[in-house]
Amino acid sequence: RGTPKYSGMVEDCCCDYETVDHLNEEVLNPSLQELVKTPFFRYFKVKLWCDCPFWPDDGMCRLRDCSVCECPESEFPESFKKPHRFSMNDLVCQEGKPQAAVDRTLDSKVFRGWSETDNPWTIDDETDNDEMTYVNLQLNPERYTGYTGPSARRIWDAVYSENCPKYPSQGLCQEKKILYKLISGLHSSISIHIAADYLLDEATNLWGQNLTLIYDRVLKYPDRVSNLYFTFLFVLRAVTKAADYLEQAEYDTGNHNEDLKTHSLIKQLLYDPKLQTACPIPFDEANLWKGQSGPELKQKIQQQFRNISALMDCIGCEKCRLWGKLQVLGLGTALKILFSVDGQENSLQLQRNEVIALMNLLNRLSESVKFVHEVGPAADSVMEGH
Ligand code: FAD
Repeated sequence: RGTPKYSGMVEDCCCDYETVDHLNEEVLNPSLQELVKTPFFRYFKVKLWCDCPFWPDDGMCRLRDCSVCECPESEFPESFKKPHRFSMNDLVCQEGKPQAAVDRTLDSKVFRGWSETDNPWTIDDETDNDEMTYVNLQLNPERYTGYTGPSARRIWDAVYSENCPKYPSQGLCQEKKILYKLISGLHSSISIHIAADYLLDEATNLWGQNLTLIYDRVLKYPDRVSNLYFTFLFVLRAVTKAADYLEQAEYDTGNHNEDLKTHSLIKQLLYDPKLQTACPIPFDEANLWKGQSGPELKQKIQQQFRNISALMDCIGCEKCRLWGKLQVLGLGTALKILFSVDGQENSLQLQRNEVIALMNLLNRLSESVKFVHEVGPAADSVMEGH
């Protein structure tokens, strides 16, 4: 490995590159890799066939690898099919009951069952049951699919030009800059996954790493690498902020041993002492949306993010759409945790699918950061030697 190219603080964050790489490799990546394989986190509920609200679909995917294999009814957990165990109304009733008074800890519990509350940042909601299916994410890895050309390009163009134009050096306010950086960081991560698992030779079906591609699309541009680290820390902050809620949540899939393991992995990840000492607040959201125009600005950016979420239905490649929808829902969940909780204790409510998206997104970003750290110097020196 060469000398680290990125050093100092990650822009707009509270941790430096070295600490992030170290924490990721020691703590976060190993736990996340395990977590996303558990039955709770590997099934994602998604509506794959929606009309694109902006232009007719041109289904521009070339390879068989574009398609998603959906789970048969019998595969995903029984508990996912059942309606939520109790509603907020039940809880209101419970409060007056003598049993509720006995266990005082009930009052301090932040988790009150998976919610059905809409996420104001996205258009995708788990409760929208029409034509939704479950997908085993482990069987549908995010990688090269052959989806390129004008169809893919116009989605990214629409995402950037209509919703978060690149900030002219100091021109934009902090909040708009953050939206841009989140999208750019996600874009870097998608490109890195394409490069990490690429079809090198179609004739022999040889898959492997494409270092030229990662260099040309990401490493050549320091801001794209910086935005990837930023997005990783932003999502990590959301996860740690929601720690109490996530710790108390039910990871029930009917498989007792697996569910215990899921819960213990979650705890291990959220309360790791190394994470708590080295990078306790990965991103500081406290100073955003301040001033008179704060609420109006928040509504505007929320609408822009919802547009980005709607654009995911226009992706003409099923597997890219799956991961696009999942990761945008994951970002929307992070935004909801950081910015849409009214400050009162216990007011956070998350849908099961939001938490699945959030943790899978964090894992994808963690993989990308690891890949850049491990392969980046080699790719840089190969390409710079040319
Ligand atoms: P693109 O990646 O399409 O980039 C377009 C333009 O955006 C670039 O020319 C550049 O100006 C700008 N840009 C690029 N990266 C950044 C960045 N990090 N920050 C800021 N600006 C940037 N293809 C797959 O093979 N597998 C997938 O799983 C997959 N998932 C996708 C998910 C989504 C949501 C979308 C929209 C596309 C997906 N694609 C996927 C397609 C893939 O992202 C590329 O669009 C495609 O490979 C063509 O790449 P390109 O070289 O034209 O540049």
